[in-house]
Amino acid sequence: MNRPVNLPAATCRDTPVLKERGQREVFCGLTGIIWLHRKMQDAFFLVVGSRTCAHLLQSAAGVMIFAEPRFGTAILEEGDLAGLADANDELDREVGRLLSRRPDIKQLFLVGSCPSEVIKLDLARAAERLTQMHAPHVRVLNYSGSGIETTFTQGEDACLASMVPVLPETSARELLLVGALPDVVEDQAVDLLTKMGIGPIRVLPAHRSAEAPGVGANTVFACLQPFLGDTAAALERRGARMIQAPFPFGEEGTTLWLRAIADEFGVDDATFEAVTAAPRARARTAIANASAALRGKTIFFMPDSQLEIPLARFLTRECGMEAIEIGQPYIHKGLVGPDLDLIPAGPVISEGQDVDKQLDRVRAARPDLTVCGLGLANPLEAEGLTTKWAIELVFTPVHFYDQAGDLAGLFSRPVRRRDLLKLEAA
Ligand code: SF4
Repeated sequence: MNRPVNLPAATCRDTPVLKERGQREVFCGLTGIIWLHRKMQDAFFLVVGSRTCAHLLQSAAGVMIFAEPRFGTAILEEGDLAGLADANDELDREVGRLLSRRPDIKQLFLVGSCPSEVIKLDLARAAERLTQMHAPHVRVLNYSGSGIETTFTQGEDACLASMVPVLPETSARELLLVGALPDVVEDQAVDLLTKMGIGPIRVLPAHRSAEAPGVGANTVFACLQPFLGDTAAALERRGARMIQAPFPFGEEGTTLWLRAIADEFGVDDATFEAVTAAPRARARTAIANASAALRGKTIFFMPDSQLEIPLARFLTRECGMEAIEIGQPYIHKGLVGPDLDLIPAGPVISEGQDVDKQLDRVRAARPDLTVCGLGLANPLEAEGLTTKWAIELVFTPVHFYDQAGDLAGLFSRPVRRRDLLKLEAA
């Protein structure tokens, strides 16, 4: 098959990485609960944290909580924080009350926070103890969503990684898709792969604990998100093998991601072409329409969502943008290497953050668009810079062919708005 991948002569794979450690401006890993609880329908996320953590969850979840929610906060009071009360007894009571009221809960995640880490509450031991108390109806797992040294998408990675050791063993040759996507987008991916004759296809996380995928030496997996490094490592420890590919953003990323899986399963070129030709053409048209305002514009990514490198690949190669700096909270070349291979050398590649130094670079470059967290967007807008909130990218369906135009649109809207304001002011 003709595989027209236009490879640059020098790529960002070889660009020396500017590593920075300093003050950071990012949300914490509790944020992931907002999309994970929708996906895992018999799970409950119990944050062991402070009132601040409860407020973050409430405001991030917004108006969604009409029915019984699938997340909550066990508040550590001042006495717990001072070590005056036995937080473990209180946690056991809280979990007992919750599970007796909610027999629908089959998986309970104890989610650590900054306060629980500061007082060194051992949630791994608590999870083991509570699993024994509530088996076989409920499995209790734990992970950290703390904002100390983590970014907001790492909450999903930590959650999925905590599930891997307890997945059943299987010797079946299966494809495992890893990452929590909106159901409609996940269905599109499964449909395309199934039409190529690839299967059985399993997904982590599954909708219900009874549908949890098996894992073993014959499992091959493909990550759907570039922030799943710990989960990938946990799956490899169970013998599974990762299929490496650019991430499925845009027409090119989606095609290369599908092609890598198709190659693994021996799909011939004619079948691949027959399944992908129409959605590819639709995606190209949608991107061309949505990206007109982006062509020739410059973009600066501050490190936030961990999606920065794959998105820079999409925006530079498919939307005609020029990247000035691509910052990511941490760079796992085992995951984003194939995307780096496609970005022509030129932009600064930075890992971590020293926010004041990075803001100086933004101000010096005055990019047409800066992708950053909420806390930085308003001050930059006040300085006349155009911004895009990184967090929107994880709350909006952006993967695969049918969302490729919407993905370009997310970036072109603020640029178009700014262009219009300039016209009106002229
Ligand atoms: Fe704040 Fe830490 Fe709680 Fe997140 S986990 S809301 S950063 S206190």
